Amino acid sequence: MNDSAPFEPFPHYVDARKVFSQKGNFSGELGKEKFDRLPSLLVEGVFSVNAELRFSIGDRGRRMIEGNVDAQVSVACQRCLKPLELTLADDIRLALVQDEEAAEKLDNGIDPWIEAEYRLNPAQIVEEQLLLSMPLAAYHDEKECQIELPAPRANGALAAKQDPSPFAILKELKK
Ligand SMILES: [Zn+2]
Repeated sequence: MNDSAPFEPFPHYVDARKVFSQKGNFSGELGKEKFDRLPSLLVEGVFSVNAELRFSIGDRGRRMIEGNVDAQVSVACQRCLKPLELTLADDIRLALVQDEEAAEKLDNGIDPWIEAEYRLNPAQIVEEQLLLSMPLAAYHDEKECQIELPAPRANGALAAKQDPSPFAILKELKK
């Protein structure tokens, strides 16, 4: 699929008029300062985000953004509020579209990236994917949690049930 163009580090912006036909390939580590919304969901601790994005023209002239993201972040455990390290990994398969109408015409397995402007921020694309792959609430393994549970049985049952995020549900519904 891709003619192994060399990967470049992530730029602040790419120009949507050029990056697809020029098959832009970007890969590398993204620092916390690159993200707007993600840091507010995290606590002090590990932070590393590695991502790869490939821009290309696909079937029917569709402007594709594909790649993957791999991250280690620290969030607060929703039971004991102590830091909890999360590993997030996800594949990215998006098509750039200009509006909702075009988004609805996409094939299964391709998510829309709606953007009418020429300027695309690769870090924002990576961030969105990370937010989608974050659990709604994260918990330590029960034995690692650092609080006394008053009623282990009842709480245990509750904690074991990991609800999928609303985004995951949406993704499923679209299929
Ligand atoms: Zn905990």
